[in-house]
Amino acid sequence: SEYCKSLPKIELHAHLTGSLSDETVLKLLRAKQAEGGANLPQSAEVTIQRGHKRTLEECFEVFRILHCLTDNLSAIKTIARDVIQEFVADNVRYLELRTTPKSINGVMTKNQYIDTVLEAMIDEMKLNTITIRLLISIDRSRGLDDAWDTLQLAKQYAAHERFKNLICGIDISGNPRAGNLVEYIPVLREAKQCGLKLSVHLAEVVNEKETLEVLKTELIDRIGHGTFIHPETGGSQELMQLVKDQGIPLELCLSSNIKSGTVKSAEAHHFSCWRKDKHPVVICTDDKGVFSTTLSEEYKICAETFHLKKTDLRELCLAAVEMTFLSQEEKDRLRQTILKDLDKLT
Ligand code: IMP
Repeated sequence: SEYCKSLPKIELHAHLTGSLSDETVLKLLRAKQAEGGANLPQSAEVTIQRGHKRTLEECFEVFRILHCLTDNLSAIKTIARDVIQEFVADNVRYLELRTTPKSINGVMTKNQYIDTVLEAMIDEMKLNTITIRLLISIDRSRGLDDAWDTLQLAKQYAAHERFKNLICGIDISGNPRAGNLVEYIPVLREAKQCGLKLSVHLAEVVNEKETLEVLKTELIDRIGHGTFIHPETGGSQELMQLVKDQGIPLELCLSSNIKSGTVKSAEAHHFSCWRKDKHPVVICTDDKGVFSTTLSEEYKICAETFHLKKTDLRELCLAAVEMTFLSQEEKDRLRQTILKDLDKLT
């Protein structure tokens, strides 16, 4: 486990609000209670206990409560800073954070929300040896109007003087049982035309039809989860072939899938099928707070379950460089950093 911690790691699938540690949540909770507890569901303290096994639906209930705790810019600044510092402490050298822009009447606009996250990223990059980029999330449960709105925002930031290098793409996430991804394809197409990279939560639950339609667009740069794609884990030959032909890397989050019950056990995780086929995969946390994990812990679980050697773990870290949404030049630089750090390990 010390070895997994010492590895120079790349995190490509981390939702900001899902990444909040106990310390941060308690800090926010106390602040709310000091204000008289306005806006706070009564069951908050019990419900947010992290790391509990719960269904995906229950996870989304937890997000709802966390969003009540993060309903102002000062809280957003706190969570962005805390989460980044925790990834730094876990030896993450490159982080692609993702978050859904939120607005609250009279309190914050979506622009202010994103500005606050970006400023925290800039501050932490100055203080630490970490490179950070942001993916702007579209929540599939919020409907198409909101998605177009979010794309507008992403385009605006991608052309922004101060921030343009920090936004690298779009994520589509949210409750996989809400809405239909197929409706969002025109948004994806336009995002792609604007030079934004696309990471899409796909087949997190069984949904062959939707998965097939989205894969057929050939627009997707990375897949989040992709649990039910491989024929050995409830997918199909056709789905797997589409992913392989396009060489789309998969972001795999073991604890998240196991704790939310979409995968039965670590042994049953689709990591093994894709790895056996030498398809590009990257180990990620998803929501390190909600699922009570760290990226090191995820590497450790993978190593123990699938009998990975130290060299395998090093290769996984290095291979992740190619899956980032950085430019070729930035990838080259990151690869050098990772190689240098790997050299120092025994
Ligand atoms: P936020 O975007 O920073 O507020 O992070 C929390 C949000 O990420 C949730 O409200 C969901 O939309 C999304 N999210 C986090 N984990 C998952 C997941 O496992 N599946 C789908 N969406 C997720």
